Amino acid sequence: MLDGYGDSTRAVKAVSSQAIPGQPVGPAPVPAAAFHLSADEGSEPDTYGRSSNPSWRQLESALAQLEGATIALSFGSGMAAISAALRAVVRPGSALVVPSDGYYQVRRFAAECLAPLGITVREATAAQIYDAAEGADAVLAETPTNPGLDVVDLHRLAGICRRNGARLLVDNTTATPLGHQPLSLGADLVVASATKALSGHSDLLAGYVAGSHPELMSALERERLLAGAILGPFEAWLVLRSIGSVGLRFARQCQNAMALATALRSHPAVRSVRYPGLPEDPSYPVATAQMRKFGGLVGVELADADAVHHLAQGSELLVASTSFGGLHTSVDRRARWGDAVAAGFARISAGIEDTDDLVADVLAALDRG
Ligand SMILES: *Cc1c(COP(=O)(O)O)cnc(C)c1O
Repeated sequence: MLDGYGDSTRAVKAVSSQAIPGQPVGPAPVPAAAFHLSADEGSEPDTYGRSSNPSWRQLESALAQLEGATIALSFGSGMAAISAALRAVVRPGSALVVPSDGYYQVRRFAAECLAPLGITVREATAAQIYDAAEGADAVLAETPTNPGLDVVDLHRLAGICRRNGARLLVDNTTATPLGHQPLSLGADLVVASATKALSGHSDLLAGYVAGSHPELMSALERERLLAGAILGPFEAWLVLRSIGSVGLRFARQCQNAMALATALRSHPAVRSVRYPGLPEDPSYPVATAQMRKFGGLVGVELADADAVHHLAQGSELLVASTSFGGLHTSVDRRARWGDAVAAGFARISAGIEDTDDLVADVLAALDRG
């Protein structure tokens, strides 16, 4: 429906309310646990806050529009959304593929909570996932991977999953729906953390699942009702409010990431740089074919852990913090969290600072070493 518009127009349209004279132009939060019931039982749009809420509906409609889905469901965090989606697509005896090089707590959930229920969990890197998908019942792909920034060819993977009757789930956290729309590339479900660039202010946690299979989405809604991992109405409102500016924020983050990646690759203190938008990056050919924007994350390898700490300390703009997608440019040494990366590997999340200020600041901090 929003085809033909640019990202900011799509985002602003997605959060627009109906033009009712006298009503607020911006969305308003509806904090409620209980709603008035009708004598005509079942006719009420809302009854109880774990079943539905007007603030969810507005957010979910915006998310569905951005992802090109018929339905989106909000959850209390990215992990709540991902764990609900995984539970909905596996049964005891199923074979599930999860990324070995993606967000670390997803594979921990699969190993600690799904494997004991009789689900065979296989871990695969972005390069191995096509082979691993053969014979699987469900495949979760993450692209670009967090933190390595490898890109999975979703069209190719979706073809393999379709031939095998496997469900394909794609974690769209790093790319956001402005980077690409996995459903249009053949995924059955999109799962994502809205905690990162989508909400973009480092002040809330939220997640969502988007898709267009009616039975699968009803099963997920039922799962959310019964397991109860809901998003509070205030958070739903904050995410919705933030989506209105995501086009601007994400464009600047992508521009800053590209500028940082370009500047860093020729600095003597930098061993290697990963950014899917760099023409020499191994991810570039697939990224240019399937992505509209390359995202705000840059992977940088420095000499060792101390070099990463010195970079953060020597800079006036970089914030040392985990998570990503916020207003501030941030740096996170991923080996600290157990990711299989070098000790000196830093994930830089580009913020929305002025590009020239940011590049000058980071280069000066590297020079100070
Ligand atoms: C952060 C993240 C998650 C988990 O999201 P939360 O909102 O922290 O629960 C899942 N996948 C990816 C790729 C992430 O970066």
